[in-house]
Amino acid sequence: MDFDDTQEEADYRRRAREWLNANAPEPVAKAGLPALTAAKAWQAKKAAAGYACITWPKDWGGPGGTAIEQVIFSEEEAKFATPPNVCAIGLGMCLPTIMAFADEATKRRFAPPAMRGDDIWCQLFSEPSGGSDVAAARTRAVRVNDGSGDWIINGQKVWTTGAQLSDFGIVIVRTDPDVPKHKGLTMFWVDMKDPGIEVKPIHQMSGGSEFNEVFFTDVRVKDSQRLGAVGEGWKVSLVTLMNERLAVGGLRGPGWQQLLEAARRTPGLNGLPALRDQAIREKLADWYVLSAGLQHTRNRALTALSRGEAPGPENSIGKIISAMQMQELAHAAVEMFDQFGIVSDPALAELQGEFHSALLNSPGLRIAGGTDEILRNIIAERVLGLPGDVRVDKDVPFKHLPQGR
Ligand SMILES: Cc1cc2nc3c(=O)[nH]c(=O)nc-3n(C[C@H](O)[C@H](O)[C@H](O)COP(=O)(O)OP(=O)(O)OC[C@H]3O[C@@H](n4cnc5c(N)ncnc54)[C@H](O)[C@@H]3O)c2cc1C
Repeated sequence: MDFDDTQEEADYRRRAREWLNANAPEPVAKAGLPALTAAKAWQAKKAAAGYACITWPKDWGGPGGTAIEQVIFSEEEAKFATPPNVCAIGLGMCLPTIMAFADEATKRRFAPPAMRGDDIWCQLFSEPSGGSDVAAARTRAVRVNDGSGDWIINGQKVWTTGAQLSDFGIVIVRTDPDVPKHKGLTMFWVDMKDPGIEVKPIHQMSGGSEFNEVFFTDVRVKDSQRLGAVGEGWKVSLVTLMNERLAVGGLRGPGWQQLLEAARRTPGLNGLPALRDQAIREKLADWYVLSAGLQHTRNRALTALSRGEAPGPENSIGKIISAMQMQELAHAAVEMFDQFGIVSDPALAELQGEFHSALLNSPGLRIAGGTDEILRNIIAERVLGLPGDVRVDKDVPFKHLPQGR
């Protein structure tokens, strides 16, 4: 493991920092812009300067940088209160899938506007019948019998982040219920404005509505919108999911350092600072140890990236630990703030608002991009080499499964 930047990496970090100091936008609340407008403008600015999609090859309109340069830029960017990243799903998951499976014309059509933030994409995988088990998708696509080769899609997706803002999406559908579930799937890209696609935002306990139900009623798509071969949708979805696990590895939110500072200033028992409370000191010590372990694991992954090696399933560790820690930290902070813990507006009390919103968002973070249990299965099977999960439905035709009936 190597903790230091190489000379080249240090130069890149310095240039990125200088550019960010000169160009990073004001926080959305201060800039007075709608979040979507601010997010698109920031993406366009990064794209023009070669700081968007850093690893994309020049062929796709990217700067052709390295994975470690992307990590360095993201680390530096995280120090600024930049607008919400509405392009994360498109650029992190959908476009890599398009690039791996679409024809040349489609790639050239979609890559540049997505990189500039002109087109927003969403990922239409989860359904009411299952999210962890993506292969249990029930949304059907049937070929139209008129010689056109077109398909008609019917069904429902759920938890689709950003669908209400999206121009395009990638959707996994069942094209053959007569074969086992992993074998009868096919992936398509869809235009979210097509007739028959209805998006209904879901109201969340945090007050936001970031994700949606998406209904497909007789949506007609061209065969040229297919990504990968008919029946090979599972293989295609693995490319998306692998990129998803990479994208959600590092979560942003208040950490133990902010809690330590707050505990110094917040009155606790007997009017003494909360930091004198043994229970808080014990928790802080635990979080410090966890964070240090996480940082070392991350450094190990970064060292591998820096040497040009691919990141492995160990990344799942970072996602489990950081999501769980955010939830525990936020819970402890809100309790420590006592009656002020319920203040959710960062404009009134910045720190209280941040922890409050972390508390309400953290349960979702433990589910999105693979639940704790699913990630533990991945670590057990692929990192520790333990025997695989029991899969009783592996060779059964989908139509004979409870979800397929
Ligand atoms: C913030 C957020 C954003 C999201 N964005 C999107 C999106 O943009 N697009 C999209 O398609 N989906 C999205 N999702 C959905 C997400 O992918 C699913 O919620 C997730 O995969 C879990 O699926 P589920 O909710 O159907 O739960 P289920 O899969 O039904 O799981 C229920 C419980 O059973 C456990 N479980 C399931 N299978 C196993 C197993 N084999 N072993 C042990 N335990 C198991 C799970 O861990 C969980 O506790 C999002 C979710 C969240 C919270």
